[in-house]
Amino acid sequence: MSLLEVRNLVKHYEGSFYFGKYRRAKVRAVDGISLTLERGEVLGLVGESGCGKSTFARLVTRLEEKTAGEIYFDGQEISGCTGKKLRRLRRHIQIIFQDSASSLNPRWKAGAIIEEPLVNYGISREKRRERVLELMDLVGMEPGDADKYPHEFSGGQRQRINIARALALEPALLVCDEPVSSLDVSIRAQVLNLLRELKERLSLSYLFISHDLAAVSCLAARVAVMYLGQIVEIIPASQLHLQGSHPYTRALVEAVPAPDPRQKTVLKATLKGEPPDPSRPPRGCRFHPRCPEATGICCEEKPVLKEVGKERTAACHLR
Ligand code: SF4
Repeated sequence: MSLLEVRNLVKHYEGSFYFGKYRRAKVRAVDGISLTLERGEVLGLVGESGCGKSTFARLVTRLEEKTAGEIYFDGQEISGCTGKKLRRLRRHIQIIFQDSASSLNPRWKAGAIIEEPLVNYGISREKRRERVLELMDLVGMEPGDADKYPHEFSGGQRQRINIARALALEPALLVCDEPVSSLDVSIRAQVLNLLRELKERLSLSYLFISHDLAAVSCLAARVAVMYLGQIVEIIPASQLHLQGSHPYTRALVEAVPAPDPRQKTVLKATLKGEPPDPSRPPRGCRFHPRCPEATGICCEEKPVLKEVGKERTAACHLR
């Protein structure tokens, strides 16, 4: 049984959105995603900004409600659970966000931030004190750091506080939503190493989300590639650089990551234009207006995700 299984997950937003000017629209942020994540696995989820990765993260952590589909955690359907059941679930699935500064309360000291989930779950004061020190040690912080405020730490250290807090209740699954994207390159490597060590030491599973394929390949065994709300390929990380992968995956492999995470990754020159408007996805293959290999059928018929090789599935008429 997979630790996480998602079946045909959909999240549409209806309202007034700005596309050059405001108009009413239905934005198809997540549009029929199915995938599994095994126990002890790191599954990467990559795609350009705005493709729906973060919405997907918020759906599986139940921070947002789905429009349709099913989410199974440890064999149990969790998308409808509420109250005590949801509270129990939250112990097992935790999320780490990209922006380490805004996800920490600036008025709280690091020790109190790490302790917060333990307070929420009624852990005794004595055990909490012990656990906070243990967690700080686990992520490479000094005991004295407990009395410092978030602004007294560097970006990398703040992300360590976030990781410690996420681990407080001993989750089985960590959803890491662009956890290193706002960090300098050298610090990024340290945090990735820390996540790798913690995974081994605590037998964790990660859903590791990033626009940067290089960061994902450092940790993930398999990578799911997302385009305009859908998965276009699921591929072992070891095969990413081989020829024959989905044209969009290839473009990501050859992309130059933007030095500033707020900027878009620069995709290969052969890719035309910007991602289409998610409220009006193109007919047929959603990638066809930008695909260097598109043929007639691509504009008409939607390709389905099918097995195309060893442990590899892709949605492409030519694979
Ligand atoms: Fe390109 Fe056609 Fe494959 Fe879509 S189906 S990725 S347009 S070749």
